[in-house]
Amino acid sequence: MTQKNHKLTIGWLYPTLMSTYGDRGNIIVLSKRCEWRGINVEIVPIDQTTSDQQLKSIDLLFGGGAQDREQELVIKDLHKKGKTIKELIENNTPALFVCGAPQLMGNYYEPSVGERIEGLGIFDMVSKHPGPDKERLIGDIVAQITAPTLLDTKYHIQTTTVVGFENHGGRTYLGENVLPFAKVIKGFGNNGEDGTEGVVYKNAIGCYLHGPLLPKNPMIADYLIQKALEVKYKEKIELKPLDDELEEKANKAILQKLGVNS
Ligand code: GLN
Repeated sequence: MTQKNHKLTIGWLYPTLMSTYGDRGNIIVLSKRCEWRGINVEIVPIDQTTSDQQLKSIDLLFGGGAQDREQELVIKDLHKKGKTIKELIENNTPALFVCGAPQLMGNYYEPSVGERIEGLGIFDMVSKHPGPDKERLIGDIVAQITAPTLLDTKYHIQTTTVVGFENHGGRTYLGENVLPFAKVIKGFGNNGEDGTEGVVYKNAIGCYLHGPLLPKNPMIADYLIQKALEVKYKEKIELKPLDDELEEKANKAILQKLGVNS
């Protein structure tokens, strides 16, 4: 079980530039589910002013969605932090990246117009926007978690169906060294072609699910919190179960709306 003196520092990438479609709600869920278990939590906004020392103290990293313009604005500073962020992920620091954020953690993102944005190359994948005259991939989405690390029974993920909302022009294609996060049941996912949704590398998750993701899929929040405590304290962690009746109802409501059997 978690102990009173357990503490997590959650790093939030560029909160004012990368938080489309309610993504800041993921930070609220991570904080609350820590507080309800007596885990101290500190949220550290990461921006141009953040020192390398502060970045190295992060136990769990979050990055939300952004329009192409905001992605172009943050990438220069993100590259300055690239080496440390890569080290964090390589050392198993858990992370959740939504939409625009994982695109920048990949090898590159070709926006609708303008120059290719070179990514940090943490996720072996590329993203390409087919251009302003092509349709964006928009709508409610349902996917089935397939990533083995998340399906490990010690994380007690019973509900393996994730629901959310997607709105992206970029299409993402996974490379060799990564696995999909999930398989699309309804919606577009990475590219609307190969049925994959998101990406997993070590303890980092990338996905196209806004909404925000975590209120209707609290099992993912618990997975990230448990992983972060295990990596930080190098001990087996069991989280106290919470009453997720409302969250499960919200998840099921989307499944019903989309005619997906739960
Ligand atoms: N700008 C990126 C795209 O259109 C990401 C969009 C987002 O984060 N919602 O694909």
